[in-house]
Amino acid sequence: MRIEDPKLAAGFLELGVQLQHGASLCDLTSLGIGGTTDLLPDLLNLLDAQGIPHKFLGGGSNLLVEDDELPWVVLQLAAPRPDIVLEGNFAHVDAAADLGRTVTYCAKNDLGGMEGLIGVPGTVGGALRMNAGAYGMQIGTYVREVKLYRSAARKIETLRGDQISFEYRHTSFAPDDMMLSVKLELPSKPYPEILKGIRICNEKRRASQPLGQKSAGCIFKNPPGASAGRMIDELGLKSLSVGDARVNDRHANFFVNAGRASAKDMLALISDVRERVRKSFGVILEFEVVVWNA
Ligand SMILES: Cc1cc2nc3c(=O)[nH]c(=O)nc-3n(C[C@H](O)[C@H](O)[C@H](O)COP(=O)(O)OP(=O)(O)OC[C@H]3O[C@@H](n4cnc5c(N)ncnc54)[C@H](O)[C@@H]3O)c2cc1C
Repeated sequence: MRIEDPKLAAGFLELGVQLQHGASLCDLTSLGIGGTTDLLPDLLNLLDAQGIPHKFLGGGSNLLVEDDELPWVVLQLAAPRPDIVLEGNFAHVDAAADLGRTVTYCAKNDLGGMEGLIGVPGTVGGALRMNAGAYGMQIGTYVREVKLYRSAARKIETLRGDQISFEYRHTSFAPDDMMLSVKLELPSKPYPEILKGIRICNEKRRASQPLGQKSAGCIFKNPPGASAGRMIDELGLKSLSVGDARVNDRHANFFVNAGRASAKDMLALISDVRERVRKSFGVILEFEVVVWNA
């Protein structure tokens, strides 16, 4: 969506807010797919008042964005410095902070628990929204407070961890809540011990995932008691392609953009694989990747 109204553009300038015209979401997501739109920093009140639809972008590592012109603007938080402040076993982290840097910063200060999240790209805000996790842990376990902007009520609120439900790649946040910051409580652990755990997780990731390729991580959630990747693999679908969208030959739940895949290609591949799994296993796979449809 383009903001054409010169009054509104001037209003942004007056507020000291930069409006980036025609930003390409293809460059802002790890799949390297997606159309163009205007990109704005934190301007929620103004947008709500003007009735301009918007979405929140973290690190773009769990997104499949529709091609072509998009019917909403995109908001991306800028991280303040410092974006992580430690206080005993508590880490106060800005939502725009890089997740991997947060894990290592806490580790170097003898705060562990998040070793499994090393190698998960994106921001802390994105990780909160999706309750990111790996290797038996999830970020929600350590959340004590989340400060968020509630678009529906147009106000900033702080929720206690026990007021939020964190499930497997699902949370109880409203779709239009914007995470601003989080207070994590992390167990004390000596840095060398945390580092050992980090290295093990890094090794597992390197051995099983196509890390150098454009992907959004796992496309599907694992159904209860089963592995989506294993089902896809058992059907012999590794390397199945639509255009340049391809089921990865190392990890069958990673679909990669092997060149110039479009969202249409990727969605066609996803739908084909999903249908084959449904026919063979009677299981309807749920999306882990977030699809931004126009
Ligand atoms: C190679 C690779 C490996 C991965 N491995 C894992 C893994 O092991 N475990 C796992 O859980 N995930 C994994 N992922 C997926 C992804 O990295 C995580 O889901 C990550 O937490 C998404 O964060 P993000 O900032 O990139 O979010 P984005 O992709 O930018 O956004 C994802 C969703 O969060 C919302 N969002 C982002 N920031 C905010 C905010 N501040 N407020 C409100 N909503 C927000 C967006 O609107 C969108 O709905 C992997 C991805 C890749 C590419």
